[in-house]
Amino acid sequence: MSMNRGRFGEYGGQYVPETLMGPLQELEIAYEEFRQNETAMITLHRYLTDYAGRPTKLTFCENLSSLLGVRIYLKREDLLHGGAHKINNTLGQALLAKFMGKKRLIAETGAGQHGVATAIAGAVFGFPVDVYMGEVDIRRQELNVFRMQLMGARVLPVTTGTRTLKDAINEALRDWVANVATTHYLIGSVVGPHPYPRMVADFQSVIGKETKEQILEKEGRLPDVILACVGGGSNAIGMFSSFFSDDVRLIGVEAGGRGLETGEHGASLCGGTKGVLHGALSYVLQDANGQIRNTHSISAGLDYPGVGPEHSMLKDAGRVEYTAVNDAEALEAFYLLSKKEGIIPALESAHAIASAVRIADTLDHDDIVVINLSGRGDKDVSEVAAREKERK
Ligand SMILES: *Cc1c(COP(=O)(O)O)cnc(C)c1O
Repeated sequence: MSMNRGRFGEYGGQYVPETLMGPLQELEIAYEEFRQNETAMITLHRYLTDYAGRPTKLTFCENLSSLLGVRIYLKREDLLHGGAHKINNTLGQALLAKFMGKKRLIAETGAGQHGVATAIAGAVFGFPVDVYMGEVDIRRQELNVFRMQLMGARVLPVTTGTRTLKDAINEALRDWVANVATTHYLIGSVVGPHPYPRMVADFQSVIGKETKEQILEKEGRLPDVILACVGGGSNAIGMFSSFFSDDVRLIGVEAGGRGLETGEHGASLCGGTKGVLHGALSYVLQDANGQIRNTHSISAGLDYPGVGPEHSMLKDAGRVEYTAVNDAEALEAFYLLSKKEGIIPALESAHAIASAVRIADTLDHDDIVVINLSGRGDKDVSEVAAREKERK
């Protein structure tokens, strides 16, 4: 076990079986070559623009701005192919896998959104794709399972443990150990052992780079506040990293679920403790014996018991503020953006909107606030409709 490679402060590292140390090093070296390979970068750029739909718009929200008394912009990752930022990463890693001569992609998924984004990349680059998914999640996310299958991916049910995401992660790691010569393990957020957190952050950094250019063009200055929701933390890091050395307030918003005091939430930074999950040291939701706790959020994409190691460092350093928004507030923000702007946000992104609403009172009327709209909410409409029925 290597103790100082790929660390963010004390966080990160490579807490994996000995047999994976070689493959992780191979991946790290190949990724460096890939980044410096001009043809590979041109190809990635072409897929991001012509296929996925970059650059995404930075939209000024006239109605929401007058309501809240600040200048609100949305970075429109919801407009990407697949409906979320996840494709920035899956296209990047799938091309890297091709560059490395791998023949097969594997992934694990909870809500199914990363599985879908991996299936998309597998289809377009001609890889067979196997996606591990807990049996419980398969039942909850029927539509995403069908989407993956439509695009040629195989969904492998995981029947161990609680039959949810953390068990699917274990199965994916087991598969990778057994088939590493031919297989790339495509991790979906800034989590996992080094070099994944660095690599995924790089692939998502296009969000912040575009935002910086766009806001300078529209406003002639940088924003005062930037908000993004945090599950594993990839859309947030992708947005924030371009602004680390600027005088910009950065706020990461976690899933408060039914409230931090209930223990039923997905807020690893706001309510967790240091521990190892998914091959890295970070803040995680665990009990006194180090057993990973069950999480809860209205948004399946924030329902993850850990968080990327870079976020843990940023929290301790105080460079990013982390806060939690509960289910009810997120739902209110979901309705608000739909009604005021005609944009239905993903429930994940609605957490960031809710947090902006919360702090608007404390800001000046000419302050600029950018919210990363990580995805669109079509996938959440039936869940929200079911809750409405319940209420009546
Ligand atoms: C998966 C997902 C997230 C959470 O993942 P991060 O790695 O934290 O970005 C947030 N929003 C949407 C729309 C997602 O699909």
